[in-house]
Amino acid sequence: MVNDAEVYEIAILGRATWQLHSLNNEGTVGNVTEPRSVTIIDPNTKTPITTDGISGEMLKHIHTGLMWAITDKNDLCEACKVLNPEKFNAIPNQGKPVQEVLENALKACEICDLHGFLVTRPTVSRKSTIEFGWALGIPDIYRDIHTHARHALGEKETVEDNTEDGEETETEPKTGGASTQMVYHRPTRSGVYAVISMFQPWRIGLNETRQDKYTYDIENDETRLERFKNALKAYQILFTRPKGAMSTTRLPHVEDFNGVIVFSTNQIPLPLISPLKQDYIKEIKDISEEIDNSINVEEFNNLSEFVKKIGNLIDKKPYKLELGD
Ligand SMILES: [Zn+2]
Repeated sequence: MVNDAEVYEIAILGRATWQLHSLNNEGTVGNVTEPRSVTIIDPNTKTPITTDGISGEMLKHIHTGLMWAITDKNDLCEACKVLNPEKFNAIPNQGKPVQEVLENALKACEICDLHGFLVTRPTVSRKSTIEFGWALGIPDIYRDIHTHARHALGEKETVEDNTEDGEETETEPKTGGASTQMVYHRPTRSGVYAVISMFQPWRIGLNETRQDKYTYDIENDETRLERFKNALKAYQILFTRPKGAMSTTRLPHVEDFNGVIVFSTNQIPLPLISPLKQDYIKEIKDISEEIDNSINVEEFNNLSEFVKKIGNLIDKKPYKLELGD
């Protein structure tokens, strides 16, 4: 593999096995938390089916948090230093031209540059360079809602945990007076999830708001390179440590990840085929070969191969467009 090659786009298509997690939920009604459900067309039977989903927002949120963790905080705006979800909108921008607001954001902040934002005054939108689709449970996902009871310290009572297998029994000491026990229901799921994500290194630092000419507003190529590396490192960690909702007590059992990393070394947008499909790897290989020989398809069979192959990309550089005179 040539390591000085520039990378235009990177797609990650794969199947992740996560056991007993609760990474994303619909919300809580009363004391019951519902898992997130989506309806898809079953790739095998071509009929509608309800399955488990983890939203792209959640995966993007996890990726953003990981980038924050590994980034030099001097390369973040004041809002992203404290992971304010408003990002550059939290910085006073009133009265400035749109082009200047975006230029300031690109110069100041890795997360604003790569993950995008929306400033309301003036209206400036930065489309994310990193995109995630829903992670979709490949039928059949096993889902269960567990009933738990919270006890006050010192309260003594035996409570049957009302799960299907009924094996969990919790015993706590009891205080005098009224019981402070609170029963609540929390979901867990186990399954294999189809994951799709796209990263566009060619857009790192690119200001697309000027009407006369697009410009790269980061003068130092080292800064673009650093942001590229951090985004890829965050991908490595994301799939080895997905930290979404309820991970305090539902830390996912991360078991497996296999699929393909597709990347282009020339300016050619990448094809995407859903890993819901049984033969998606063969199909993406055939399509890539047909479209352009600068598209590479790297297969990985487990998490360590994934991390290693993303590592090979970290040694490369982000593509820089020639924008003409
Ligand atoms: Zn920022």
